[in-house]
Amino acid sequence: MLWSLLKILFFVVLVAALAYGAGLLMETGSGLRVSVADMEFVLGPVQAVILALLTLVGVWLLLRVAGFLVALVRFLNGDETAISRYFSRSRERRGFQALADGMLALASGEARLAMSNAAKAERFLRRPDLTNLLSAQAAEMLGDKGRARDIYKKLLGDDRTRFVGVRGLMKQKLAEGDSETALKLAEKAFALKPRHAETQTALLQLQASAEDWKGARKTLNAKLRHGNIPRDLHRRRDAILALCEARDLMVDGDEPRARDLAMESNKLSPDLVPAAVMAARAYNVQGRDKQAVRVLRRAWEAQPHPDLAAAFAELVPEETPQERIQRFVALTEVRPDDPETRMLSAELAIAAEDFPAARKALGDLAERAPTARALALMAAIERGLGADDEVVRGYLAKAIGAPQGPQWVCESCGTVHSAWTPVCGHCSGFDTLAWKPAAAGPVGLGGASDMLPLLVGGGFQKSAE
Ligand SMILES: [Zn+2]
Repeated sequence: MLWSLLKILFFVVLVAALAYGAGLLMETGSGLRVSVADMEFVLGPVQAVILALLTLVGVWLLLRVAGFLVALVRFLNGDETAISRYFSRSRERRGFQALADGMLALASGEARLAMSNAAKAERFLRRPDLTNLLSAQAAEMLGDKGRARDIYKKLLGDDRTRFVGVRGLMKQKLAEGDSETALKLAEKAFALKPRHAETQTALLQLQASAEDWKGARKTLNAKLRHGNIPRDLHRRRDAILALCEARDLMVDGDEPRARDLAMESNKLSPDLVPAAVMAARAYNVQGRDKQAVRVLRRAWEAQPHPDLAAAFAELVPEETPQERIQRFVALTEVRPDDPETRMLSAELAIAAEDFPAARKALGDLAERAPTARALALMAAIERGLGADDEVVRGYLAKAIGAPQGPQWVCESCGTVHSAWTPVCGHCSGFDTLAWKPAAAGPVGLGGASDMLPLLVGGGFQKSAE
């Protein structure tokens, strides 16, 4: 405190003296008179400035020499390391200066300058843990991947820098698309620093892509424990991972465990359509149809989806179309005005050959929001009502050019998927699929089962025959 006050005072006095000197020079005009040992010199303004600079350099040199002399005196008094300490202090100063210059060069995008400063800093400091990092980043910026990799490998040797080395190598492997090696490195990085949010995200992503659902769930829980994910997002992603594990178990033939996991997934995230479908099937197998209806209703409330309707139809495979209409009220009453509900009701009425009811259910959907499916339903209704072929063909022609309606669209890259998957098939994003209209929907007609899932896809086949 006192020291900095003194420095400020000294600075103020210095500025005042310089200003006074400059004023004097201006006034006299003839220059500065200096007398040394009976001799008098007259200095012009330029010479006066040069003299001032020389004095400054002289003072600086004097201070350095004084510092060295102090070290020498200490050495002579028995302090053996005084001189080497004096020199290493100055080496250290130059080393850190080079390091600072290198970091500034890196920040301003001058990779080569950063690299040469890193080498200089290494010479003075002999602190590879600091300078290697700078060199690695400079090499990355230069695009010299081989050199960056060599430096990362060097960083692996030191406990303090091992994580940085592993992370650097992992990022390189990710950029190269070598996800197998990247996964191993991510696991290592996670073991070194389980709290590191970026590592958790990378590991989770890689585990999901590698279909290691159990491992991914552990990573996800670590994310929650360390506060790196909101609780509701954690529940949804945990539900997705449980669902994927359940699907794998089902394929492997461990059906009881698969069913338990499907129900767990549905409890974690009742809105998740594929989980609700699988849970409903599981309850159905156990003879708990009330529960099955409950989970499908709840999911329909959040997001009416044809897969939910198909699962609802599966609950009672042998029933007449009339019985089916009666039973489906439990589902269609939940969101009566949703386009999905209207199309579902129309399909059910068409299956029962009640075309006026189908038309009433569909309402003005084919005009208001014409999708391929709504227009195909209109064509079927018109045919059932005995309209001219021309009218029917008109609706079918419109259906071919119409938007597809909601689909499973990746919110990160926009790719449309025919069925829900946990990982996007195009950009490998985890939990990026949403049920919504595709941005600039690819025009074209899917298979007939895409358009009228309940009529053609199986749900009605037994009873319609
Ligand atoms: Zn994607």
